[in-house]
Amino acid sequence: MNLLRDWYFVQVAPDDPRTMVLPLPDSLMGRLLEYVVAHEIGHTLGFPHNFYASSSVPVDSLRSPSFTARWGDTPSIMDYARFNYVAQPGDGAALIPTISVYDSFAVNWGYRRVPGAATPEAERPYLDSLARLQDANPMLRFGDMDGIDPNSQREALGDDPVRATTFGLMNLKRVMRMLIPATTGNKLEDYSDLSEMYDRVIGQWRFEMSDVLTMVGGVFRHERYPTQEGVIHTPVPRAKQAEAVQFLAANVFKTPDFFLDPEVLRRIEPSGIVERVRTEQTNFLRNLFDDSRLSRLADQGATATAAAPAYTIADLVGDTRRAIFSELAGPHVAVDAYRRNLQRAFVDLMDTKLNPPPVIARTGPAGPAGPVPPGFRPPPPMPGDARALIRAELKDLDAALKLALLKAGDRVSRAHIEDLRFRIDRTLNPK
Ligand SMILES: [Zn+2]
Repeated sequence: MNLLRDWYFVQVAPDDPRTMVLPLPDSLMGRLLEYVVAHEIGHTLGFPHNFYASSSVPVDSLRSPSFTARWGDTPSIMDYARFNYVAQPGDGAALIPTISVYDSFAVNWGYRRVPGAATPEAERPYLDSLARLQDANPMLRFGDMDGIDPNSQREALGDDPVRATTFGLMNLKRVMRMLIPATTGNKLEDYSDLSEMYDRVIGQWRFEMSDVLTMVGGVFRHERYPTQEGVIHTPVPRAKQAEAVQFLAANVFKTPDFFLDPEVLRRIEPSGIVERVRTEQTNFLRNLFDDSRLSRLADQGATATAAAPAYTIADLVGDTRRAIFSELAGPHVAVDAYRRNLQRAFVDLMDTKLNPPPVIARTGPAGPAGPVPPGFRPPPPMPGDARALIRAELKDLDAALKLALLKAGDRVSRAHIEDLRFRIDRTLNPK
């Protein structure tokens, strides 16, 4: 009940006046329970999570009352999607997922009697003809969440993560302003609800940003059998990957100050906000430079054509570095506490990439790397090109820092820049 309340509040509160003051009315809580129970009943019928269906819906349609009334915010109650955080106040769009067209399709495929078919094998031609409907209608597809396909993600809505998250952020900013009045309706209670809901706001921000992150080095997957035209895996186009990195630069690496509201923070903790921001940004940065993502980018770069250019490792390293060190380009250089942390995190991460800590040997019969479980494929190592590019980028960065030192007025910024240069030198020339 608490989880449902929190999800509903952080995702769609600006669209529903019943959320002005908590608790939510029983009539609404009942409707939210109905949503969860319908989903769980789907599991009892044998349906796994769908993950994909939401990506068949154009983001603009999520703001349409007629579209969402007919299909819900995703074509499957089994999608790991939630309330319609894309819809804006005044849209009048439906907010709660509903049993929809994929679910009927799955029931039909799994449970319909096929007349004249005496064995499961004899049902196969009919079932395959049903499955072929998925070619023409993406609402009927499903996927696996593997962190690679941006179309198959949890918590995601719509066909374009950047656009969906843009609308989601507009709502999250409104939710921040609603937090205190909504959670302090009962004057005999403490600020526990405010604290819990604030964490949920950041959690929702993290989910929506992660949906954007998956675009980088992403690969769309469309399951096909040999009788069907076309290939299965298609890299996310270069322009869409570049757009995703710019979006993360503007909304993660530029300090997300909308959730640094002192009115809220000073009611829930004595300190800690700088550390919160640092942790979130560092996690995104690490994830962006994850070795398996870098090796997908290397693959995409190697197989790119003039007609389908790739977003490369060089693009990623350069775009991220420029975003994180944008202060250096200005006429006067001053770096605030949040950005100093982020810049240090970037240099430290690059150090880990170039000088990885020694692998701690695990005990086991299979040698120094330890026993490998059957069926386990170790993740790919960082591609060699990444090493070279990171090294080149750090040299460029050091030159830019050297110039910035002349433009840095305050003592803290100067000390910070000198510290970064010291770290870069140690990274490029380890003992
Ligand atoms: Zn489930």
